[in-house]
Amino acid sequence: MGRCDHASSSSFPAGGSPRWSGRRRKQWWPVSAAMGSSVTGACRSRQVGWVAGATGVRSWSLGTRASAYPLLCCGVMHAAVAEPGHHLHVAVSLLRGRHVVALTGAGISTESGIPDYRGPATQARARNPIQHAEFVRDPAARRRYWARSVIGWPRVAGAAPNAAHAALAAMERGGALSAVITQNVDRLHARAGSRRVVELHGALAEVACLACGRREGRAELQERLLALNPEMAGLARAAIAGPGPDVVGRANPDGDAELPAGLVDRFRVADCQACGGVLKPDVVFFGGSVPRDVVAEAYGLVDAAEALLVVGSSLAVYSGYRFVRRAAERGAPIAIVNLGPTRGDPLAALRWDERACAALPPLAAML
Ligand SMILES: [Zn+2]
Repeated sequence: MGRCDHASSSSFPAGGSPRWSGRRRKQWWPVSAAMGSSVTGACRSRQVGWVAGATGVRSWSLGTRASAYPLLCCGVMHAAVAEPGHHLHVAVSLLRGRHVVALTGAGISTESGIPDYRGPATQARARNPIQHAEFVRDPAARRRYWARSVIGWPRVAGAAPNAAHAALAAMERGGALSAVITQNVDRLHARAGSRRVVELHGALAEVACLACGRREGRAELQERLLALNPEMAGLARAAIAGPGPDVVGRANPDGDAELPAGLVDRFRVADCQACGGVLKPDVVFFGGSVPRDVVAEAYGLVDAAEALLVVGSSLAVYSGYRFVRRAAERGAPIAIVNLGPTRGDPLAALRWDERACAALPPLAAML
């Protein structure tokens, strides 16, 4: 076992040779020069990741089994000795020079004003989202959905990409990122300039007829819905301004919103202009499934990737988590930037508890 070729001479622990111990081939480096500082890195060969802190330097062999993955960083003990910028440097060491794919969730869009109802601050107000089967089967459920959507959509349509979206687009332009796989339906990645985007859950910007398949822009449908329901126009305008916690018209990330029952009961739903069929936003509702070709495209990107960067997702939903598992099975290092713990933490080489807008711009600049 030679010296890790990814470590610079200034950050690599000086003195002595690595010692191997344990059946899992844990490798311990003697510490000398690294004492008192916190340095990290990962071998370019992807065989070894290592972390050095005030308590010593440890490195691990990264086996092919997911369970063999250590947390390089961000254990409570380690975070306590981390220097400012520490996580950034770990992220750079994991991602630089590699073929990187990003997987993003609602957390990247919160700073664009689109709430994340699974985030740490919003768990208390989690609500029951509409279910796919209910939408298809029940006209009353559709009426409730569209009435709320008329209020929720303007907030999504009016949201602007933020610094984190821009950073990912810049990484792609610079060749540091090959694609974005997103769980978000707000289309902010494309609007920020990302070219290769896989929208796992579709996009609210489009609507499709369940009978004839005709597609319609959501903006166009909004005009029709407001024409049918003029009493909603004022609420739709007010919702853009950013409602308070109990205000009518509070928007949710899927373009939904809360409304009193009376308004819902009077709401008139718009049908397909070609056949009169049922319109559905082109998004995957809970209980629905991601189209097979979309899943295959995302797996293809993950399989071609040498590292996975997860941003703003708790990975609670399997549709995103499966790609993290796949990357781990293939031995690709995984860096997670998210506020709060995620389901993928045990598989991650880096857990960076930070806002996407604070973490990604400096990361993009250093890759
Ligand atoms: Zn139709």
